[in-house]
Parts: sequence; C-alpha cells; structure tokens
Amino acid sequence: MLDTLPLLNKISFPAINRKKINILQINLGYRCNQQCLHCHVNAGPNRREEMSHEVLMQTLDFIKYNRIQTVDLTGGAPEMHPEFIGLIEALHQLGVKVIDRCNLTILNETGYEHLAEKLAEKQVEIVASMPCYLEENVNKQRGSGVFESSIKALKTLNELGYGHEGNSLTLNLVYNPQGASLSPEQVQLEKDYKTFLMEQFGITFNQLFTITNVPVKRFGSTLISKKEFKPYMELLQSAHQMDNLDAVMCRYQLSIDWQGYLYDCDFNQMLELPLQKNGKKLHIADARIEELENRDIIVAGHCYACTAGKGSSCGGALT
Ligand code: SF4
Ligand code: SF4
Repeated sequence: MLDTLPLLNKISFPAINRKKINILQINLGYRCNQQCLHCHVNAGPNRREEMSHEVLMQTLDFIKYNRIQTVDLTGGAPEMHPEFIGLIEALHQLGVKVIDRCNLTILNETGYEHLAEKLAEKQVEIVASMPCYLEENVNKQRGSGVFESSIKALKTLNELGYGHEGNSLTLNLVYNPQGASLSPEQVQLEKDYKTFLMEQFGITFNQLFTITNVPVKRFGSTLISKKEFKPYMELLQSAHQMDNLDAVMCRYQLSIDWQGYLYDCDFNQMLELPLQKNGKKLHIADARIEELENRDIIVAGHCYACTAGKGSSCGGALT
C-alpha cells in the first residue's frame, strides 16, 4: 500500500484548535466483513486488531468521569468486536447517546441475527453506509451482493421502527462519491434517495450525510496508483471554504484507536498522527480533558477533504 502522508505533509492547511469536546469516536478494531475500495481504514475480514477489555474499561472510565455526551462507534465493522453488545448496554445505562457506524451487511451475517433488535432496544442511532441508491454503483465500490444485502438490512431496521419521522430510532445514510470527485448537494441528493428507496423498496430513513473521500490508506493509495492523487488534491484545495473551518469535526471531538491512543480525528488516526504528551503518544488512561481542549489540531493536506465545497464531517455536509 502506498503511503500518502509524505505528500499530504507538503501541503499547508490553516491552523485550527480544538474547542469543547462533546463526542468521543471509538475505533473498536479493523476487522470487517467487507473490503471496500474507498475504505480509509484498510479494514477487512483478515484484520485482527481489536480493542482489549482493559482499554475498553479505561475508555468507559474516561466517558463517565468527563461526562461525554455522545459516543460514536466505528471500525472496521464495530459490531464484530466481541464486547460490542456489552459496551452499548453500559453506555445506555450511563445515558450516553450512542452512534453505530454500520455497514448494513453485518446485520445479515451468521451470528449477528439479533443485532438489529439489540440496537433498537438500546436506542442506538445508526449511521449506515449507502454510497448510492443504484445497485451497480454500490456493488462496484463495496463488493458483489452488497446492495441486495443492504436493502434487506434497511427493511429490517424499518420494521423495528428505525428511520420513521417522529420516531426516536434514528437511521441516517451516508453517501460518498465513487472516486476522486466532490459530493453532489446534500439536500437535493437526500430527496433523490428518499424518493427512489421509497418507490422501489418501501424504505424510509431520516437524513442523508454526504461525506468526501479522504486521500488516506486504501483510497489514497489507489489515487496514487491511478495518478489521480495530485488532481484530486487540487480539486479539494480549489473548493476550500474558510467558513467550514469553524465546524470541522476535530474541533468538537476526539478519536481513540483500538490500543487506546488519542487522535484529533479518525483520519489522523489512520495517518498515525497521534496526540502527544511529553513527547509520547497520549493514551486514554493518561488523558485529562481540560488539557485537550483549546489545543492545536494536527493538520495537513487531507484536511481539505473536510473543508471543500459544503464541507464534510461524520455528520455530513457542514453548511
Ligand atoms: S468502508 Fe466500512 S464497510 Fe467498507 S471495508 Fe471499510 S470499514 Fe468495512
Ligand atoms: S482531517 Fe478533518 S477532522 Fe481531521 S484534523 Fe483535518 S480538518 Fe480536522
């Protein structure tokens, strides 16, 4: 795999600092039942990295002590972590809002038959990958049969009460471009998704988030091999909007890796740009929240993916 960091480090980005931390994004590990082309984590079925019980407990202590309001679970497929159910139960008991970044197909895998019911029972918000409403495009990016399996999972979630207006079970979908381009306008695309999915499959959902592909790991490496890295960076930089700097997600959240080390965001985690204290990587067990707020964020060329056009974050467009 080709490393994009040396190239990204040559591109300057405006300085930004962290404000108040409201969200902790936890990467539970890199195992996934899929192996998508655009994956910025390089996740897949053969990855074995996963958070230990000890680090999970240290993370829960941090959440409790600092009264973190929202926890965003990611991976790989976070649901494949052996303690996933125990974790969402513990967080629910603490009154923490839990977001599960779900690839949908995991809900149909053997051994995960009751997962969707458990997510509903614990009022977990689902943010599900659905990079297009057309079968051909989804399967091209995410693998053969993924579209059909995703539709089946969405129907199951709707039956459980997810995605219906006025209901407390939230189901948001994520669109990301097929390759080296910017997302279409989020509001219009959401209307198109809603119309198509309802007409064709009777599926409903709450919001669509458009997320820009970030040039790191598998996606970044593919860009270099196809000689698309430079034009893509030029596209992102030419679309940079200063107004988006205020709302980029690293200003309000922290990311933690499967070993317990802290980062400004999931992308900095993948680029191995950790937060540091006294010249050492900062671990969740040693972190004091007051020392993390108002701190400089580590930025480089990849950050233009967050500020290009309407902006991009884990919650979709910024403006
Ligand atoms: S993009 Fe998501 S579903 Fe696809 S391989 Fe990566 S973690 Fe798994
Ligand atoms: S990639 Fe985005 S979220 Fe991460 S540090 Fe850069 S601007 Fe912040």
